Amino acid sequence: MTSIRDLIRIYDLDPKKSLGQNFLIDESHLARVVAGADLKLEDTVLEIGPGFGVLTQRLVAKAGRVIAVELDDRLITILRAQFVTNPKVTIVHGDILAFDPAELIADAQASNPQSSISTPQAYKVVANLPYYITSAVIRHLLEAAQPPRLAVLMVQKEVAERICAEPGDMSLLAVSVQFYARPKIVHHVPASAFYPRPKVDSAVLRLDVLPERPVPDIAADQFFRVARAGFSQKRKQLLNTISAGLHLAKPNVADLLERAGIDPKRRAETLSIAEWGQLCRVLGAAPEAEQVATI
Ligand code: SAM
Repeated sequence: MTSIRDLIRIYDLDPKKSLGQNFLIDESHLARVVAGADLKLEDTVLEIGPGFGVLTQRLVAKAGRVIAVELDDRLITILRAQFVTNPKVTIVHGDILAFDPAELIADAQASNPQSSISTPQAYKVVANLPYYITSAVIRHLLEAAQPPRLAVLMVQKEVAERICAEPGDMSLLAVSVQFYARPKIVHHVPASAFYPRPKVDSAVLRLDVLPERPVPDIAADQFFRVARAGFSQKRKQLLNTISAGLHLAKPNVADLLERAGIDPKRRAETLSIAEWGQLCRVLGAAPEAEQVATI
């Protein structure tokens, strides 16, 4: 098989840093990314940033259909030529953040209904992500009207670790992901597995989207209004961050936190998703907090 270095030379294509173009060149890591998605022939896969199509080829060998979204127009020509004879692959040109993922899948199925028996609701995402949009892509997928069933994503190692954090080390990113999905690091990937070699190590992160939210009675916008307030000032006690972030008097906040079973001296990074949920419930039931919600 032609190597990535050869392809770059043949097509005279300078990898663009601005598009996060670090191509995966290590066969064993490519195989492990694919294995992480437990693909079956009835699966539809959305791939973000197929690059030269190296991962795409391996995905299509295991899945029923692959829809691959690539932003770089230089690569689109190469990808279209490579997959033109394969009805299981649809190449889409554009920015993943500008598309509704489920619509992409429905459109691809409508244009070629024979090539898969999967339904748009049950798609999986597999991607060696361009790191400059990691958080935005994860948010885009998890907040979509029809999120994927699971996502297997190559991301920067530190980001994967932050997302998988437990109470004590939580961040707004970890809370935002764990509200929707169960994250797990599948394996670590050294910088040497990519060309050009990035400055950071990577990890394959698997997100299993939860069939039911951990706090099903709390609306996402209410949950994140409170969580954002909690994380608004680094390393400050919840008494201060909630009071400043939600414009509530400190004695009221102390009382609300205690009613939620949370010590007002604790910091946002120590709270579990269930505790944020409990705080939202208490705030939702308190008249002083209700007034804030309408400001
Ligand atoms: N999948 C290939 C691989 O594993 O070698 C390439 C991965 S490379 C890290 C990221 C890819 O995402 C590049 O091909 C880049 O052009 C593409 N890309 C960057 N920004 C994008 C965006 N907003 N939407 C879709 N693709 C994007």
